[in-house]
Amino acid sequence: MKIVAVETHVCHARMRNWVFVKVLTDQDGLFGWGEATLEWHTRAVAGAVQDLAELLIGQDPTRVEHLWQMMYRRHFWHGHGIVRATAIAGIDLALWDILGKSLGVPCSKLWGGPVRDHVRTYCHLGGGRMEDFYETAADDARRFADLAAQAVAEGFTAFKSMAVPPTMPLEGLKPLRTAEKCVAAMREAVGESIDIMVDCHARPSPAMGLQFAKVLEPFGLYFLEEPCWPENVEGLARIKSEVSTPIATGERVTHLAAFQNLFAAQACDVCQLDITHCGGLSEARRIAALCEAHRLALAPHNPQGPVSTAASLEFGFSQPSYVICETVHNDVPWRKDVVDEGFTVEQAGRIVRPNTRPGLGITINEDEVRRHPFQQELPQPVTYSDGSVGDW
Ligand SMILES: [Mg+2]
Repeated sequence: MKIVAVETHVCHARMRNWVFVKVLTDQDGLFGWGEATLEWHTRAVAGAVQDLAELLIGQDPTRVEHLWQMMYRRHFWHGHGIVRATAIAGIDLALWDILGKSLGVPCSKLWGGPVRDHVRTYCHLGGGRMEDFYETAADDARRFADLAAQAVAEGFTAFKSMAVPPTMPLEGLKPLRTAEKCVAAMREAVGESIDIMVDCHARPSPAMGLQFAKVLEPFGLYFLEEPCWPENVEGLARIKSEVSTPIATGERVTHLAAFQNLFAAQACDVCQLDITHCGGLSEARRIAALCEAHRLALAPHNPQGPVSTAASLEFGFSQPSYVICETVHNDVPWRKDVVDEGFTVEQAGRIVRPNTRPGLGITINEDEVRRHPFQQELPQPVTYSDGSVGDW
């Protein structure tokens, strides 16, 4: 079997352009789907996929690890910058999809699974609707409480919120009280049997992140995400050492050695690798093995499109330390028209039963994808009160 073409299919989905990668073979009807979505860098990723394609044409697609090594190492610069790590991931996912299809088994079976009966999922407040999740101001505690109650009414037992306002490297009490009121309102709305996550989006400095972690500690968060930049490994480690709340990070960390640095520094309790940004399922499996060694929880980052979700779930059915999968379902109303999925979601509890189809178990509707051609991603500027630039 040989690879004959590598294509990108871009689908504009408001917040993001979903970048689907299709790897075609010389066997009639056998191809694989991957995803390499990277908001605000869509054209760069599509270009990187084409740069990698010349390594792949004519190669046997079932030699997934061999091809991963070629993509990562053969072009001199190791493939762990965010654009190339994402492009490699898109192709790698498609290769695993081909391998599963060629053998007639779901990908999780290729990795010794399934290791569980179902995978638990959580949602963003508003189901991932941009205005609800990213644009509800943290001082609107009432709205947060309403959205939290809505998530529970939709069957979720866990949800994520952005209840921490953007802050400069040092600010006083006001943003701390804002976050505190916001999380208190959500806890009041849903009770103690529901798991609440707060994503700081790596906006705080280590000093502010520590203060947010301390004021939110009494609410028993399931985890506190990116309380400071992932580059501040010592800052994360300090925050983790001073609160009992589990600290999560990893969505911007793109390779095994960087995860090893994080874990060795005891900088997190929850590994949020992103299958579409860390070099794909091949590298994710190595990172997961490291998580096992450190007894860390795996909770992949997954706000992207439907191939990323299918891959994250297949991964979940193969990894013992996997605790929950991030999902969005309301980012665009036509999400379900783009994909036919092999797994089933039970409304009560929003748990996912295993995919029974070969590979990643998905079929992408290319006609529907073509209805949503590339558009520049919407700007999401964060500017502080003095006019200086903050992190999104
Ligand atoms: Mg995040």
